[in-house]
Amino acid sequence: MAAVRRASDPGAIAEAAEILRRGGLVAFPTETVYGLGADATDDRAVARVFEAKNRPEFNPLIVHVPDLAAARPLVEWTDAAQALAARFWPGPLSLVLPRLRDCPVSKLAAAGLSTLAVRAPGGAAARALLEEAGRPVAAPSANPAGAVSPTRAEHVVETLGDAIDLVIDDGPCTVGIESTVVDLGGETPALLRPGGLPAEEIEALTGPLARPGDPDTPRSPGQLASHYAPALPLRIGGGDPEHGEALLSFGPDTPSGAAVERNLSPSGNPVEAAANLFAALHALDRSGCTGIVAMPVPETGLGRAIMDRLRRAAAPRALVDPTDRN
Ligand code: AMP
Ligand code: MG
Repeated sequence: MAAVRRASDPGAIAEAAEILRRGGLVAFPTETVYGLGADATDDRAVARVFEAKNRPEFNPLIVHVPDLAAARPLVEWTDAAQALAARFWPGPLSLVLPRLRDCPVSKLAAAGLSTLAVRAPGGAAARALLEEAGRPVAAPSANPAGAVSPTRAEHVVETLGDAIDLVIDDGPCTVGIESTVVDLGGETPALLRPGGLPAEEIEALTGPLARPGDPDTPRSPGQLASHYAPALPLRIGGGDPEHGEALLSFGPDTPSGAAVERNLSPSGNPVEAAANLFAALHALDRSGCTGIVAMPVPETGLGRAIMDRLRRAAAPRALVDPTDRN
């Protein structure tokens, strides 16, 4: 069971930051809801977040930073981002921007997308923790998939207590609903998710936001086109690789004869496999092979999310429903 410490306990924030830096999971309060935090630059720690939430798919996580200056090395900053962050951060507003080429955030944290959602949250405990951690922190709401978002530490302990290392308790969240998510990567800023900051307040600075469902609303997060899919054809198969195919393998017993092989987890650990998935796909895509054959991963725990992603990558591209949300 996770340890629980009051945010005001001496040393609690320092301990939480140390756990994050070592790859552990810390639930912490923001002004919106309690977040399930992990070092966003650590693939393995991010994989543990998905495992703890028990989602059948990977969905992109919001990356939390203490302030605007800490967001700039991660994403392509724009005038609109500058104006919105200066006005509303710290606060319940997440900005989606293209990630920088040398952005240190785990590809898994953004579910393979080329964009990243960044936010500087309010709440003294969150801000102190982010300062002290000294690195971006990926944090979805600290609830199991499909359950309501937690607004008190007790909610987190009840539902995720066994999966995480520490819960920082700072009482009830003041806003209590998730952050508003705005995509600034397209021509028109778009509202991807209504939330704690009213859209009207944002529009006072940006002009009208495209809304979900508008024909010109850019890519919603689950659209396959905006997800990373390898350029090479990918098939799922257990047998020997065909001539020229690269092998995406899993576990100790792998077929021989592949031109190039990347093993997601030689020991057969799905958390390790999830942590390596996107980097391995990128590497095989650049291997000069004719295609990729992926060994199936057992569909338990994170194995389900891995197989979901591999099936999407294997589906005939034109036949995939572009509105299929992830
Ligand atoms: P949660 O962290 O549970 O509050 O949910 C995160 C929200 O942010 C979801 O609605 C995601 O779809 C959205 N999100 C995170 N990253 C991105 C991204 N790169 N592009 C679009 N939406 C994102
Ligand atoms: Mg959530």
